[in-house]
Amino acid sequence: MLKKIAFVALDGCFGCSFISSGLNDNLKEFISSFEIVSSPFIDSVNFDSCDICIIEGAVNSEESKQKAISLREKSKYVVALGTCACFGGINGLRNLCNTKEDVYQKYFNGKKSYEFKEVSVLLDKVLALENVIKVDYTIPGCPPVEEFIKQSIKTIAEGKSIKLPSHNLCYECTRNHESMLIPKREFLNVSISSIMEADNIDDNKCFLEQEILCMGPATRQGCNSRCVNVNVPCKGCMGPTSNTDEQGLKMINALSSILPAGVLNYFEDLIGTGYRFSLSLSAISKKGKRRDER
Ligand code: SF4
Ligand code: SF4
Ligand code: SF4
Repeated sequence: MLKKIAFVALDGCFGCSFISSGLNDNLKEFISSFEIVSSPFIDSVNFDSCDICIIEGAVNSEESKQKAISLREKSKYVVALGTCACFGGINGLRNLCNTKEDVYQKYFNGKKSYEFKEVSVLLDKVLALENVIKVDYTIPGCPPVEEFIKQSIKTIAEGKSIKLPSHNLCYECTRNHESMLIPKREFLNVSISSIMEADNIDDNKCFLEQEILCMGPATRQGCNSRCVNVNVPCKGCMGPTSNTDEQGLKMINALSSILPAGVLNYFEDLIGTGYRFSLSLSAISKKGKRRDER
């Protein structure tokens, strides 16, 4: 049984760390059976070695990149925990800017990156952990489901491999989706910004069949359908399914088969919607790279 575990946060929101590292009541007892050599809440990565290093967050800065490389060297297994670490997460949307200087231009009154001594230097692109180091296992979700975290850590600690579910969310969704292929004249999400604005949602019927955008067809199952079960459409946080990194393209493909020709032209934010959590993995992220960096 592998016992020494490190929890480390790179560029995330600490949500995954909060749930997994023992602060959350539901996992407290389970996690306390391990020897915790590092926690993001004491901000220490000064340990010599560990069996399982569980890393939250994308790689957004040079400092995080170096930290990830160093963690890899002293860990037997590296686990990417949460959507930011697995796919870049919400952070990855900044890859729509061509370079980091575009970011400073937009958000820091045009100052150059080297003028900010107090913050670590941003990388040109937000990277998923697997873009920087070898990752042994991924536990996606924003944040991942607690039971999924627990079972995954337990399995890895026993020296076994974990396997992610391979189907999309529609496969496990219990909403009635019998007539998904009937073309619609209108698509509600084009004109509404919040689900609260939609009247008369049928609690038992597929969102797409009610012309409400749901990312289920392009998103990996495994979250226990926690949004769609409470009448909220899926936004795609479990990331792409096993057969592609292009979650957005897969969604466009799915929509093309259920919408009348031309309707997709009227979507205001196709990339932000389809790649909300996984843009760092997409070929679109590489488009903005300077020629000499390709
Ligand atoms: S995956 Fe979600 S909960 Fe986890 S660090 Fe990223 S934003 Fe936070
Ligand atoms: S599109 Fe959404 S609501 Fe419809 S079956 Fe798939 S996950 Fe369920
Ligand atoms: S329903 Fe979609 S957005 Fe909600 S937790 Fe599952 S994968 Fe994430």
